[in-house]
Amino acid sequence: MQWEVVIGLEVHAQLATESKIFCGASTAYGAAPNTQADLVTLGYPGVLPVLNKDVVVMAAKFGMAVDATVAPRSVFARKNYFYPDLPKGYQISQYELPIVEHGHIDLTLDDGSVKRVGITRAHLEEDAGKSLHENMAGKTGIDLNRAGTPLLEIVSEPDIRSAKEAVNYMRRIHQIVRYLGISDGNMQEGSFRCDANVSVRPVGQAEFGTRAEIKNLNSFRFVEKAIDFEVERQIDLLEDGGEVVQETRLYDSDKDETRSMRSKEEANDYRYFPDPDLLPVEISPEFLEQVKAGMPELPQAKATRFIEQYGLKAADVEVLTSSRATADFFEAVADKADARLAANWVAGELGGALNKDAIEITESRVDADALALLINRISDNTISGKIAKEVFAAMWAGEGSADDIIEAKGLKQITDTGAIEAVVDEVIANNPEQVQQFREGKDKVLGFFVGQVMKATQGKANPGQVNQLLRDKLKG
Ligand code: ADP
Ligand code: MG
Repeated sequence: MQWEVVIGLEVHAQLATESKIFCGASTAYGAAPNTQADLVTLGYPGVLPVLNKDVVVMAAKFGMAVDATVAPRSVFARKNYFYPDLPKGYQISQYELPIVEHGHIDLTLDDGSVKRVGITRAHLEEDAGKSLHENMAGKTGIDLNRAGTPLLEIVSEPDIRSAKEAVNYMRRIHQIVRYLGISDGNMQEGSFRCDANVSVRPVGQAEFGTRAEIKNLNSFRFVEKAIDFEVERQIDLLEDGGEVVQETRLYDSDKDETRSMRSKEEANDYRYFPDPDLLPVEISPEFLEQVKAGMPELPQAKATRFIEQYGLKAADVEVLTSSRATADFFEAVADKADARLAANWVAGELGGALNKDAIEITESRVDADALALLINRISDNTISGKIAKEVFAAMWAGEGSADDIIEAKGLKQITDTGAIEAVVDEVIANNPEQVQQFREGKDKVLGFFVGQVMKATQGKANPGQVNQLLRDKLKG
């Protein structure tokens, strides 16, 4: 039997506000436990929540970025359940009337085709606290610093058809929230995580199969591995005549498996009702216009512009627009140097160096001006592209500017035809056998000669001139 995989993701993006969603307590990460838990966070009786306006602006930005409807009126609801990290006994969320509905994201698949994934809704809610188990000697600690931190929960339609597509979708959401500056997207700190709803059905069947929900996946790799495991598990189960039960599962990354956590609760278990302490959120068209005016250029628009403005290829702009910082860096280089070379260097050599040192482009050891100067030394034939890599490595190691390094190491390209010709003549004279081969039509030995000349000049001969001279002379 052939199986089709069906996936819907619920992505939780922590919104980058200074203070919590319904009170003035700080949202800064990493403080000592319970030092950012004021009376509202602690759920004292009689205290009242006050909505942080920034979260409304941020949700509206997200809604517009994914072509969704930003609701003119949305309502906060209480989702009731008991858990030690939830002092009020309910989470304030949105239920029937979320702030964002009916959006979509266009994914580019491996074969280059475009696939649209629907976004059912995105709603605002508060995060819960954390249970601490380490160094607790048989007890559990509760840290309420995170309680009340604003989240945007982004719910997709069950349009996703593989683990790879799920990762692709999640990366795009991650990219968008970071471009918009509404979330730092830090996955280690839990600021960006997702629940994956996974089911399988026989190919051709119209109804969906029963799904399991894998909770709290906090890396792209875990999303892919957890879904792959879960799909295998469900298919094995069904092929052995069993049934998938609707339940919540946890992914254990050490064992690379998902485990049952609890049976799935239904919405009515939560006794949702509108929170009487909070007014509905009303958004006017004028307010939306204002928010829109403050939105940055988004990744897809940027990619299209880069292709047109700088004559780049679609594959190159993918990397260059991956983050706003990368795009800004590229544009700063392209402003002062050849744009195509700038694209190659930012995506290639610079990207590799950043990866190797595991640092962000904002922390790059070579800044945009310095890289532009290096590229200009390739363009004006002071050095070859190959030598430029050596210069770049020295720049990265802090040895100075491109010009300083070229000077200090004597790397200036030899463009004096006479000087190159002398070396070419010598190499030809020393290798009569290869000359013979070339003249018999073995074009490939040209590479051998180029290599010899480069070796004799420590890579400094201008490659264009070397090729030309060799061809002329070898033809005899
Ligand atoms: P809940 O409120 O129980 O989490 P929802 O109906 O809101 O359930 O759906 C949550 C997520 O599950 C959505 O992303 C949706 O696309 C996805 N989903 C719903 N049904 C299925 C299914 N049969 N297989 C896979 N994903 C599903
Ligand atoms: Mg859910």
